[in-house]
Amino acid sequence: MHIDMTQIDADMTMSVKLAEDDRESAGKATLARKTVTFNLPKGFNKQSVHPDLLALAGLITFYPWIGKRLDLSFAVSQGFADTVKAASKIEIANVSDRIQKRTTGENARPGLAFSGGVDSIAALAIMPENTVPVFSCRTAPPNGGRTLYKADAPLHAIKEMNAAGKDTFLVESDLEWVREPVGFAIDPSPAVPLLLLADLFELDAIGFGTIAEAAYRTGGAAFLDYSKRGVFTQWQTIFHSVGIDYYNCVAGLSEMCTTSIALQSEFGHLAQSCVRGLAGKPCMSCVKCFRKSLIEASMSGNWPSESEVSRMMANRAIRNYLSDAPIRLEIILAAAMMNYAGRDPLLLALQKRVAPKTWNVSFTQGWYGPSLQTMVPQKYRQETTDRMLNYIPQMTGEQEEAFRSFEIGPVMAAKNREVEEFLAILEANASPTVVG
Ligand SMILES: [Zn+2]
Repeated sequence: MHIDMTQIDADMTMSVKLAEDDRESAGKATLARKTVTFNLPKGFNKQSVHPDLLALAGLITFYPWIGKRLDLSFAVSQGFADTVKAASKIEIANVSDRIQKRTTGENARPGLAFSGGVDSIAALAIMPENTVPVFSCRTAPPNGGRTLYKADAPLHAIKEMNAAGKDTFLVESDLEWVREPVGFAIDPSPAVPLLLLADLFELDAIGFGTIAEAAYRTGGAAFLDYSKRGVFTQWQTIFHSVGIDYYNCVAGLSEMCTTSIALQSEFGHLAQSCVRGLAGKPCMSCVKCFRKSLIEASMSGNWPSESEVSRMMANRAIRNYLSDAPIRLEIILAAAMMNYAGRDPLLLALQKRVAPKTWNVSFTQGWYGPSLQTMVPQKYRQETTDRMLNYIPQMTGEQEEAFRSFEIGPVMAAKNREVEEFLAILEANASPTVVG
């Protein structure tokens, strides 16, 4: 694949030409566009960005569709080309031994791939004060199509954070439209805008909002250590070769913990994970809104009214979500429903279905300390720990063991009857009342 990069004013465009060994379709992801344009903040100049950073940004953007070779219109360092070859088998042809490896100085700082959601706001609260949050904003559909996606809430958050003196940046791009179906092509894709800005802001690490349920598959079939997974080690090695560390500071936290941190933190009131609602007005009709409302209620004690619960549970998307066994992130619903003591028949039915009283999920309330060693760069470990403990207790040894040994399979096998009962209640709630 050949990638060309050009800059006009604040816009940098990557354009690709496919070679014979490239593919237009990789698994479920099809290459939908051959150009991506990033609208970058003031001060960005492609000429002063280390070529290895530009190359890595291009590699990630088009990774699923690249065959054996990556041809660039500029040269990269030998060390970067060697690392990419070893980690991904992709050969970068244009190499110059006059280009030194990228290094950073004493004053380098971390960036955060900021989404405006709860996990991201929590990450910001526990990363150092000089962290640079960068929001990757998806442009409107390129062909005038329709979308439910709204960036109102994160855009509002960015405005408020800047007004409060926290410099937060916005990079608008059609990065996610490169892929059909629309979305980030691979795990590190949200980092692409930060890689382009890494020299301007002198970044030596990039933070993500990856929480324990993703990093360790907590609540799933079995514990899996993200730091040992191929996809993590492969990209971590390549990031290292451009002087950037992965900084997954919320990897040891459940969604319960990130919500709790967000609620306690300076910008927590701006956190909104719903991408369909307006700022301060989540849609309350999507799965994220449903789960968040229960998690927050479990902390505030302000449960949604019976009619609101009934309306949400009758919503098709939420009903489909709740009909699964296990429900996605069932462990989080269990933790949220653990202390419910109200009388709403639907919430009581949900509580019985996720059965928090019969299996111990208290470890979802604590920080999994071992995540520090593998997920947080050494330079930032002490500060991350100190900040973390301001908000969240560390898991006890017993909880760590429960966190690692939890498996959803046996839990589900023991509640076939509860699942059946709950499905009948969901169905009845969604059907119009039949009289007589
Ligand atoms: Zn929503």
